[in-house]
Amino acid sequence: MDESLAECPGCGGDARFSVRAPDGTLFGPYTLSQIRAYALERRIVPSAVLIAANGDVFALRQAGIAAPLPHTFAPAPTERRALPGWAILLIVLAIVASIAAIAAAIALPYRAMNRRLGPGGMACDYNLNQVSLALQMYRLDYNDYFPLEPTWRPALYPYLNRVGMTLQAFECPASGLRQRSYELAPALSGVSDRTLSYTVRSRVPMVYDAGLATGPGPHGGDGNVAFVDNTVRLLSPAQFKQYSANLPKQTPARPKP
Ligand SMILES: [Zn+2]
Repeated sequence: MDESLAECPGCGGDARFSVRAPDGTLFGPYTLSQIRAYALERRIVPSAVLIAANGDVFALRQAGIAAPLPHTFAPAPTERRALPGWAILLIVLAIVASIAAIAAAIALPYRAMNRRLGPGGMACDYNLNQVSLALQMYRLDYNDYFPLEPTWRPALYPYLNRVGMTLQAFECPASGLRQRSYELAPALSGVSDRTLSYTVRSRVPMVYDAGLATGPGPHGGDGNVAFVDNTVRLLSPAQFKQYSANLPKQTPARPKP
């Protein structure tokens, strides 16, 4: 019992109090222990007051009674609701669809490239990459000079070995020419690559599918071309002709390497 109630005359252990609701209705009288029990059961609102036998009025808290707030003020319990079956199905479908979209985005460029290059096109592209690499190593050893055109293939043998390739690198699967499937541009025979500026190297054809210079290439009329900067592209005969304009015009007298 708190101090204010202790000062209250006639507030002994078995003293009784009426309870006045906020709307003025009177209940009781009850003993303090009864009122405390009612408050715990939420049958008394916190704003109700106690009236002693002598007419003195006390708030509930003055009597040491903590009335809990009515239920309506209690926070709503959180409820974990399971997702309905159709929502789970929808999420699974969305995940499957996005995986399929990613797989297609990865595979489609390759399929498009395969279609564009035709049968054997990818292997041809790879061959020309390796031959370009061998040619670059040759030029490093020979003071930047290209090999002579009539003997360029045997000149590259040791360099192809170094990149783990065999003479198969000279064979385009789409061509019937076997190890003579590719040509070195005759205008580059015995030429120093220092005569070609770095800006023009990506436009100077170096090694390419044989026949592209004179007619249709083996890949649906087109042919693969390795440029001096070692990039490989598929060109039509007309495109090849345009790029050939970038080749050195005159073959200089071959210097001694
Ligand atoms: Zn080819």
